[in-house]
Amino acid sequence: MAITVKVVKRSDSTMNKETYLPQIFKGMGVTIRHFFRNVFGGRDTQTLKYPEEKIAYPERFRGLHRLNHRPGTDGRVRCVACMLCPTVCPAHCITVVAEDTGDPSIEKAPALFEIDELRCVVCGLCVEACPVDAIRMDTGVHMKPVSFRGDAILGKVDLMKLGTDSRAVQGGKGGDWRGA
Ligand code: SF4
Ligand code: SF4
Repeated sequence: MAITVKVVKRSDSTMNKETYLPQIFKGMGVTIRHFFRNVFGGRDTQTLKYPEEKIAYPERFRGLHRLNHRPGTDGRVRCVACMLCPTVCPAHCITVVAEDTGDPSIEKAPALFEIDELRCVVCGLCVEACPVDAIRMDTGVHMKPVSFRGDAILGKVDLMKLGTDSRAVQGGKGGDWRGA
């Protein structure tokens, strides 16, 4: 069988096509136009000079977790170790170990409360699930970069440092939870 060779016609070669000079100058023109517009106009600038400039977060922005305190006490944690947040967490990043408080009106409190912020997917379900407004993500604070994975696990003390008293009304009426 005879071998046939298909000859592909080369397109006309020109100086412009070979050197890409028109395209390079066109691209440089766009870059220079944006440079001067951003430096002197600032209209379309999408970047912030962080940390001097910070973006205003929306009210429902989910930041780092915090654990609220029980009002009227010496800063005890509001969490009653009900296990709802570790149960609902899709990332399985919350660990709660309950202990008996010795107070029959509270019954349980977390002996250990840890959140692995590296595994957290910031879904907010833990906050939604909590029946006593013990956990929130309204800090407006990002997780700081860490060098070791273990440093991303925040314990009860870390989480309570960001916490405040909560006077949430349970069930929408009847006053604050447990009258605190
Ligand atoms: S925000 Fe979502 S993923 Fe993160 S700890 Fe809460 S439930 Fe888990
Ligand atoms: S933080 Fe809220 S949901 Fe989680 S264990 Fe404590 S009381 Fe339950």
